[in-house]
Amino acid sequence: MTDQLSVSPTALVDLEELDKKHYLHPTTIPKIHAEQGPKLSFTEGNGIYVKDTKGDEYIDGLSMLWNVNLGHGNQELANTAKEQMTKLAFSSSFAGYSNEPAVRLAEKMTSMAPGDLNAVFYTSGGSESNDTAFKLSRFYWSMKGKPEKKKIISLKQGYHGVTIAAQTATAIPLFHQFSSSGISDVFHAKPHLTDCELGGRSHPDYEGSIRDIVEKEGADTIAAVIVEPVQGSGGVHMPPDGYLEAVRKLCDEFGILFIADEVICGFGRTGKMFGVDNWDVVPDLMCVAKGISSGYSQLGGVLIKQEIRDTLVQYDQVLAHGFTYSGHPTACAVALKNIEILERDEVVANVKSMEHELNAGFEYLKDKHPTVTKTRALGLLAGFELYKDRDEEIPFDSSILPSTEVVEECFNRKLILRPLASQVGRNIVAIAPPLIINKRQVEDMVAIIDDSISDFEKKHL
Ligand code: PMP
Repeated sequence: MTDQLSVSPTALVDLEELDKKHYLHPTTIPKIHAEQGPKLSFTEGNGIYVKDTKGDEYIDGLSMLWNVNLGHGNQELANTAKEQMTKLAFSSSFAGYSNEPAVRLAEKMTSMAPGDLNAVFYTSGGSESNDTAFKLSRFYWSMKGKPEKKKIISLKQGYHGVTIAAQTATAIPLFHQFSSSGISDVFHAKPHLTDCELGGRSHPDYEGSIRDIVEKEGADTIAAVIVEPVQGSGGVHMPPDGYLEAVRKLCDEFGILFIADEVICGFGRTGKMFGVDNWDVVPDLMCVAKGISSGYSQLGGVLIKQEIRDTLVQYDQVLAHGFTYSGHPTACAVALKNIEILERDEVVANVKSMEHELNAGFEYLKDKHPTVTKTRALGLLAGFELYKDRDEEIPFDSSILPSTEVVEECFNRKLILRPLASQVGRNIVAIAPPLIINKRQVEDMVAIIDDSISDFEKKHL
C-alpha cells in the first residue's frame, strides 16, 4: 500500500463536511454523525489491513462486516470483476433469461452444500436471502395444500437482517425500537435449549422454547424455523452440542422447514465450508451472502432442498419474487472465483489452524486478565466477555460499557473489532478477521487486545 497521505488535508476536510451533510449512515446516530462526521474513512486495503484517508493502517479484525473473507486488495477477484464487466456487466434473470456465471455458480454451490440442497435462488444480500427463504417456505406450503402454514420462529438474539420480514425475525430489541415496523406471525424462541427441543417439558425454561411455541401455535400454522448455526451479531453464541440436531429433529417431527442462516457462517468462516457442516445437520433451506464473494460484489442466495425444488416445478404458478440483481453476472463471476481461491489455497484449513492460534491467545489473555472469560472460537468466528468478577459473573457497573471501551482502546492501537451486548450489558468483544490471516498477525491482534484490556483494567479495577 502507498505510504503517503491518501487524501490531501484540504480535500479531507471537504470530504468530512460533505459526509456530514449528505450521507446518512447505517447503525449510526444521525445527530452525532451530523456533528462529528465519520469516525474513519477507508481508502485502500491489502490482506488483513486497511488504510484510512490519513494514511493510517489498521488491522481489520472483523473482516469489515464479517464478510471480507479473502481479505482486501485481492487482484484475482478484481480482475475477474473487470473481465466480466467488460464482457457483460449485467443481464436480467427474470422471465427465463439466464447467464453463464449464474448457472455455473449455482452448480458449484449446490455441489459444495450439504445434503440435497440442489437449487439456488439469488439475491443481493443476507436480508433479502432471509426474506426470500420465508416467502419460499410459505409458497412451498401453499403448493402442498397447506396455505395456513405461515408462521416463522427465530431465536432470541438471532440477527437475520433489516428488511421488514428479516428484521422481525431479528430478535435484538434495538432493531425493533427503530421505526417499530414488522410483520405479524414471527415468534422469538429462547435459544439453545437442547433438552426442551427434544421434549423436556419439565425443564424450567420450557416455556418459550421452540417446541413450546410450536405446541401452543399448532404445527399446522408454522412454516419454518430459522437459526444461525453460530449466532453472530447477537453475541457470537455457539450452540451447545446436539442443539442443531435437536432442532432438526423437532422440525421433522412437526413437519416444519429448517432454515439455516449461513450469512456469516458460510464459505469457511467456522473452519468448515458451511456452519452446519460442524454438526450432523442438513437444513431444508440455507441462506448465504457475505463470504460468498468476500464482499467484492453484492450477492446472496437461498439454497433449497430437492423436494422443495421438485414441488415448485410441479405447478404452473409464477414465482412472483425476484430482485433486479438476482443472478447478477459480475457478482456471480466474482463469487465463483472467490470459491475457486478458497479451495485452491486451502483457506478453510488455514481457518482451522488459526482457530488454534487464537485459542492459545485467549488462554494467555485469561491467565493475565481477571476480567476476561467465556472465550470462544469456531474457526475465525470468535469472541470473549468482560466481567468485574468473572467467577461470580458480576458485571461492571452499568455506567461502564466494557466491550465498547476495550474496542475503543484497540481502535486507538489500530485494530478494528466490534463490541456486542449480552444480557448483562455491553461486554462481548467479537473477533472475525479475514480467513487468510497468519500466525504472526493473530499474535499481533492478541498483543493489541492484551494492552487494551490492561488499560481498561487500570481504569476500572
Ligand atoms: N443474517 C446474518 C446472520 C447476518 O449476520 C446478516 C448481516 N450481518 C444478515 C443476515 C443480513 O445481511 P445483509 O446485511 O447483507 O442484508
